[in-house]
Amino acid sequence: MSEVNVSDNLKKLRLRIAKAEQAVGRAPNSVGLVAVSKTKPISLIRAAIAEGQRAFGENYAQEAIEKATALADLGLEWHFIGPVQSNKTQGLAGAMSWVHTVDRLKIARRLNDQRPENMPALNVCLQVNISQETSKAGLPPDQVAALAREVAGLPRLRLRGLMAIPAPTDNTLEQRQAFADMRELLLQLKSTLPELDTLSMGMSGDLEAAIAEGATLIRVGSDIFGARN
Ligand SMILES: *Cc1c(COP(=O)(O)O)cnc(C)c1O
Repeated sequence: MSEVNVSDNLKKLRLRIAKAEQAVGRAPNSVGLVAVSKTKPISLIRAAIAEGQRAFGENYAQEAIEKATALADLGLEWHFIGPVQSNKTQGLAGAMSWVHTVDRLKIARRLNDQRPENMPALNVCLQVNISQETSKAGLPPDQVAALAREVAGLPRLRLRGLMAIPAPTDNTLEQRQAFADMRELLLQLKSTLPELDTLSMGMSGDLEAAIAEGATLIRVGSDIFGARN
């Protein structure tokens, strides 16, 4: 494995984000960065922390809980961005600040019931299958409003917005279209849920398109921590 320079990578990424914000007239630092550390060792997470990074994303529940527990004294913000299984909700409810991937009421209810009382409400996003891929996780766009209404009523969850992983493509126009559809969907929801403020979209390969269409949180892994095996 080649050496990865997390500090350099983060500095370059921050410039890239700033340029993308500026290109579309968005305010500096209006896009939050979740550093996706899945499969990567704690040593690389510490290198990102040393560079000022506070928000980390993980895909696998067991790994997410272990890393959050190991670094609990540092006041980091842990984001769960992988598929949520019922038998993992308790651990996630106790260790995460955010879960981006709620797509069923059953999972939302479990997270709500299991969120410890001494912690603030758990931030959640609804995952949308925006490219309508048959194999993909996430809600079809036409089911988002109904689930949002239910989740917004759960007192130990704080519904923040929507998340998507569009079908991968190098075509910038296609990237923009999927993210624009997400922006439109959030806008519609905000007519009844004005407190929603989050669009979690954009990764290493498409973050410029996501920022152009209003992403408020991007989730970047390989461009910070190197390719995964
Ligand atoms: C792995 C992953 C990312 C990061 O992807 P990169 O291409 O490595 O930047 C973002 N979001 C989700 C949901 C992921 O699973």
